Amino acid sequence: MDASIIAVGTELLFGQVVNTNAAYISRGLQLLGVDVLYHYTVGDNPGRMRDVIGRALSETSIVVLSGGLGPTQDDLTKEILAEVMGVRLVPDDRALHEIESFFIRIGRGMTDNNRKQAMMPEGAAVFYNTCGTAPGFALEKGERTAIALPGPPSELSVMFEASVIPYLEGRSGYAIRHRMLRFYGIGESQLETDLRGLIGGQTDPTFATYAKEGECSLRIASKRRTLWEAEEAVARAEEDVLAVVGHYMYSDSDEELCTVTARALVDSGLTLASAESCTGGLFASALVSFPGVSAVFDRGYITYSNEAKEQDLGVSTALIDKHGAVSGEVAAAMASGAREAAGTDIGISVTGVAGPDGGTAGKPVGLAWMAVADASGAITYKYIGVDKGRDGNRRLTVLAMLGMLRRYLLDRKG
Ligand code: ATP
Ligand code: MG
Repeated sequence: MDASIIAVGTELLFGQVVNTNAAYISRGLQLLGVDVLYHYTVGDNPGRMRDVIGRALSETSIVVLSGGLGPTQDDLTKEILAEVMGVRLVPDDRALHEIESFFIRIGRGMTDNNRKQAMMPEGAAVFYNTCGTAPGFALEKGERTAIALPGPPSELSVMFEASVIPYLEGRSGYAIRHRMLRFYGIGESQLETDLRGLIGGQTDPTFATYAKEGECSLRIASKRRTLWEAEEAVARAEEDVLAVVGHYMYSDSDEELCTVTARALVDSGLTLASAESCTGGLFASALVSFPGVSAVFDRGYITYSNEAKEQDLGVSTALIDKHGAVSGEVAAAMASGAREAAGTDIGISVTGVAGPDGGTAGKPVGLAWMAVADASGAITYKYIGVDKGRDGNRRLTVLAMLGMLRRYLLDRKG
């Protein structure tokens, strides 16, 4: 199956809104094994919409449209599409009912033009909207299928997951399963090299690596006759991958390192205090994005100056003078100091050079020393990042702290 995507909206042509929907739909279709051949963007202009829809329908078997399903005058996608495909618009009772309930739920009056949104092309499979008013739909004619989705990205993605994927899977006669594995501590090129034996020459499952800031992922996808077969194939491939690079994998369900580490901390029951210098609280902030972490995360010290390290954490002036604020010795003293000052089971710390200034040959921008301390002492870790600018360095340093904490919790569990 092949597809084109048409993003509708003059604001896209003006550059006021970035066309993220096309990228999102492309990724989604690719995972379903659909080849995307064209992206079009067209303004809210009936003539040009007619042209581009007609062209796309003549070129690919599937055309996915985004936007222009709203209640206003310039929302024309449905009308033009119905016209081009030669079908009437008829009222859809459930759509009308859902639009009415939506307005009752948000406590606002419904205007007559909202009723326009409940008109659907005759014979279309309607995708009801659970987080907005405009329903989407799929309309088949001969070998061609047009799928229309609402413009707001949050509505579009929910509808894509809930309705479009099952719809297209049902049509293809295949079941597709994929799994996103995430890795920390190994680069994309290394990952690819290590897995070459496995990946090379494979047609199903397929493997694709992706690089993200400071980490990388591997997508395993399988397309089989049944869901069971596809799931089996993906699960077996994951085992093979783990046999080679399992040490670096932290999630096989596309979760963030922060989520996985915070969950492991909560599960361990160990209470934690953090002491941050160069990251200025970013580690604590990342950790508290995980709901439920309050059970174990006690407090975070932001000890930016040497005085703060001395006063809040009891790091001695002599130690700082001897080794410098950015050193393993000071990181260890900070982690132990945080733990003792807060009375927690463990302490975690970081001290580094965020840049742009302050780097030296021995201590370049991007360098950070970090430590985890418990009753038996402190373990230090030296993180040497490539300079990614001040904010990038801070984010990468936080990832390294999360990686270190996760590793500590794993080792402790044995
Ligand atoms: P509504 O009911 O909100 O009018 P709609 O289906 O008519 O929905 P549009 O009016 O085209 O959609 O777009 C609504 C908003 O969604 C736009 O203001 C824009 O912010 C966002 N949007 C539309 N198209 C895209 C796109 N291709 N990529 C990203 N955002 C988009
Ligand atoms: Mg609109």
